[in-house]
Amino acid sequence: MLHDATSQQQNQPTLQAFISLLTLVEALASVTEEREGTQRGEPGNVPPITLRAAGQAFAEIAQQVLQCKYVGMLALDPPDERQRLIGSSGLPPNEEQRLNEDTFQVPLSDYVDAAAIAQLHADQIVLLDLRERPFVTTRSIHGARYRLVAPIMLHGKLAGLFTMAKTDEKYPNVQSAYSPEERALAKGIARLAALVIEKVGLLQECAEAHSKEQRLQATARRYEDFISTASHELRTPLTTIKGNVQLAQRRMQALEKQAAQGSLSPESLRRIEQPLKETLLNFNRLERMILELLDFSRIQADKFIMRKQPCNLVEIVRQAVEEARKCNGGRVIRLSLPATAIVPIIADADRISEVVSNYLSNAHKYSPLEEPIDVRLTVEGGQARVEVQDRGPGVSPEDQARIWERFYRAPGIEMLGERAADSNLGLGLYLCKEIIELHHGKLGVNSVPGQGSTFWFTLELAQVADEAENAPA
Ligand code: ADP
Repeated sequence: MLHDATSQQQNQPTLQAFISLLTLVEALASVTEEREGTQRGEPGNVPPITLRAAGQAFAEIAQQVLQCKYVGMLALDPPDERQRLIGSSGLPPNEEQRLNEDTFQVPLSDYVDAAAIAQLHADQIVLLDLRERPFVTTRSIHGARYRLVAPIMLHGKLAGLFTMAKTDEKYPNVQSAYSPEERALAKGIARLAALVIEKVGLLQECAEAHSKEQRLQATARRYEDFISTASHELRTPLTTIKGNVQLAQRRMQALEKQAAQGSLSPESLRRIEQPLKETLLNFNRLERMILELLDFSRIQADKFIMRKQPCNLVEIVRQAVEEARKCNGGRVIRLSLPATAIVPIIADADRISEVVSNYLSNAHKYSPLEEPIDVRLTVEGGQARVEVQDRGPGVSPEDQARIWERFYRAPGIEMLGERAADSNLGLGLYLCKEIIELHHGKLGVNSVPGQGSTFWFTLELAQVADEAENAPA
């Protein structure tokens, strides 16, 4: 079709606006596609694009397209449409900072009047002369007098504002500052801004779902590992028990024969003692693992109950150490206690003893047998502190937080001491954490890899009634 010169001139601004819009769409598509591509390529490693980053990219492109002094994009937060700048372009950094502060969390009603708000809600553009509007502050003009504000509508609701500004004082009023094409273009850009906001929201939801799925997968993997470890760990002592019982049986038969022949000696009777000892040791190990599993299932069912009563932490620690000295043959365990004979706490003594024993059995398992273990009980500022220090491989900084998780076993940590009656289900420290937290205490580990670790917990001291005070008059 042929056009005469006049119609070409009339169509010029419309064409220009159309080209501008196309440019914006193309530029935007490349911003978000790039991001999606990276997300697909390296799932989980790239955080989703933030609304601030997308808004900023959008504002910069929009300003280039519109060739005006300033472009801004604001989100409106519930409940009363508080403004939040998500992108701006065209202002020097100090003015941009000021604008950010001026608008941040300011309700829309502090900025424009009710009539303008109604217009925006009705998806209409508002034109403002900042020197005339009722809420003018020289601070917020930023050298750009004539403002065009276009609503960003999401699902039929006002979700944000797209604003552009002109300084050009050659216009007698704001109406003449923006041509119909420019207004239409601004409205189109605000629609695109809505798409950007929506898309960023979807990308974020996607990334959240993805990382949730990854977490679930990791838990499922760890659970599978746990099942295979648990089956193995439970089977090993069972096999040993079976073997030793069979051995004891055979030796019993030999003893019976010797008894029938009248040649039964104390020496041959002692030969039956060794497989029985082994059986007991493995039986204890099995029992400990089954108890850990039972406690684990109690925690899951919210039935892990502490029976707290007044008790003496000195006694608890002393007994746990004595027990460990008996089981961990040959290991030196040094104990340091406070001068006072009683360190009073309100606690479930058996459970606190389990925590100390667990720390001790780990120290024994993971450090060389010839290295001593130090146990310390100290009292300071209303708190009792128990520490178990070993000279094993230590715990790496990354693992220091994770070893308290259920089923977690730090990679590359070898068992150096003998296994004795230990459980190896990766549940010990998890149970310790539950127990201490149910006593409102704190626990942790200090460790320098290669130089051993100190596992500790603290508990609040109980108030002991003064005997003199309570004595009958
Ligand atoms: P496990 O039954 O595997 O010993 P725990 O919950 O008691 O389970 O410990 C979790 C992990 O923490 C262990 O598998 C080990 O990797 C690490 N760990 C625990 N205690 C020590 C220690 N004293 N020294 C080095 N690593 C330890």
